[in-house]
Amino acid sequence: MKPDEPHGHSHDHHPHHAHAHAHEHTHAHAHGHSHDHPHDHSHLSEQEVRVRALQSLLTAKGYIDPEAIDRIVQTYETDVGPRNGARVVAKAWSEPAFADWLARDATAAIASLGYHGRQGEHMVALFNQPGQHNVVVCTLCSCYPWPVLGLPPVWYKSAPYRSRVVMDPRSVLADFGLVLPDTTEVRVWDSTAEVRYLVIPERPAGTQAWDQAALASLVTRDSMIGTGLARPAHTVAKPSGARA
Ligand code: FE
Repeated sequence: MKPDEPHGHSHDHHPHHAHAHAHEHTHAHAHGHSHDHPHDHSHLSEQEVRVRALQSLLTAKGYIDPEAIDRIVQTYETDVGPRNGARVVAKAWSEPAFADWLARDATAAIASLGYHGRQGEHMVALFNQPGQHNVVVCTLCSCYPWPVLGLPPVWYKSAPYRSRVVMDPRSVLADFGLVLPDTTEVRVWDSTAEVRYLVIPERPAGTQAWDQAALASLVTRDSMIGTGLARPAHTVAKPSGARA
């Protein structure tokens, strides 16, 4: 899928969602999405509207602290959600048969670990390799592989990232602190309503004897989007049992 290919939004329609995000349609117009699609990953679903209403009410009454909620959400963005993807990557690094399966049918391979569901129905794994780096974007909105990465970070949904990473991926990656050799080809993949991508970063050197749990600790969220690499082995405490 090239970045400039059309962004088809054609998921099943859930009529009960239609009214909930009606006021959010400005975005849809601006980007030429069809109205009647319910696959409003950047719009508010009925459930999201209810959550926001509930949060506003509880905050107004002084029962909850919005900052505490933000911290919880951030935890899901950076810790809880991406740990699933990290286990997928660690298994692929450790088990060639699983890596093969992941390359052939990522949806099934990932589902075998129990990670499946909305925004993960059609997964494609992109394997980084020497001289070739993959990075993922959704140029139109914020399509993201929820079952393996959790909630998308704010920058992933931002207009600057979505537009610049396609036109000038190297400078965007540099903004993330990732400077790749000129000889490395950078491939940008535009998510669609149908397909979600998971980048499989290269396995760090010096980890041959590490078990999968230890390997997973090296896999960052950004390394699975492509805006980062897996952590070098020396940056984490050497796991017990590993002879690195
Ligand atoms: Fe999208």
